Amino acid sequence: MDNALSREIDELAAAAISYAASHTRIAKIAYPPNVRIAVNFTADFDTMLLRRLMNEPPQQLAKGEFGGRVGIWRLIELFDSHGVKATVFTPGRICELYPRAVQAIARGGHEVADHMWEHRVPKEPDLERDHLLKTSAALERLTGKRPVGSRSSHSLKLLQENGFIYVSEHSADHLPYYQQSNGATLLHLPFHFAIDDAMFFSYAWMGSRNDAQRITDPDRVFDLWWDAFMHQYRQGGYLNICLHPFVSGRALRIAMLDRLIAKMKTLPGVWFPTCEELARHILAAGEAH
Ligand SMILES: [Zn+2]
Repeated sequence: MDNALSREIDELAAAAISYAASHTRIAKIAYPPNVRIAVNFTADFDTMLLRRLMNEPPQQLAKGEFGGRVGIWRLIELFDSHGVKATVFTPGRICELYPRAVQAIARGGHEVADHMWEHRVPKEPDLERDHLLKTSAALERLTGKRPVGSRSSHSLKLLQENGFIYVSEHSADHLPYYQQSNGATLLHLPFHFAIDDAMFFSYAWMGSRNDAQRITDPDRVFDLWWDAFMHQYRQGGYLNICLHPFVSGRALRIAMLDRLIAKMKTLPGVWFPTCEELARHILAAGEAH
């Protein structure tokens, strides 16, 4: 084997070892008695902040405004009608744009968690800290509670130092696991893009061409997500469904989610906690061992 190839293989092996070392599986997720599966409904209250940073045209950005004006309220109503407690990952700037919606989410007993200041994590450590603290303070001002969860790539150490107990950002597993980095450990509540509304219902996604649009029939998404749910239900697993108010807040998609939640509720042992509730339960059970 030539030297360059062998060096490349060594580097790959080192990367795999360090990746494995940052990921600790939980041997058995201990759910409360009679619970078979935890389903986290999570919503990223983005209103296309990311696209604003990318200077997308007003016609595109207006879709985000729909999320703040209409979509988020429809989602709150949907969750409340089913007694489902959801987690809404909220960028700090949303507190300036849609304060009443953020208050209503918290008033309904749903969790408001961090989703960066303006949907990006700065590379400069001081600015990164500033964004995280600014977001936590803005959310606390409206909800009366500091966030303990984040959907972001903020450094685990910074999150842990500031009282965060979990992250929900990656797809590295299908069950909750512990993620380590630089001496910090946080619980990770994974999701997957196959259970993310934006992957099915996005028109003009990130400057895509007309022949690349993905407006999927909601019934098709219902079938896919129901199958994903049943797959996890059979093995006593976990499901994190990622929604966006400007995507799922559209009427036919709300109707699809309504049917999906109603059908999930027909089975015994389905638990709909907030991410915080689930994280606290898993962490407490871990300590008890
Ligand atoms: Zn987002």
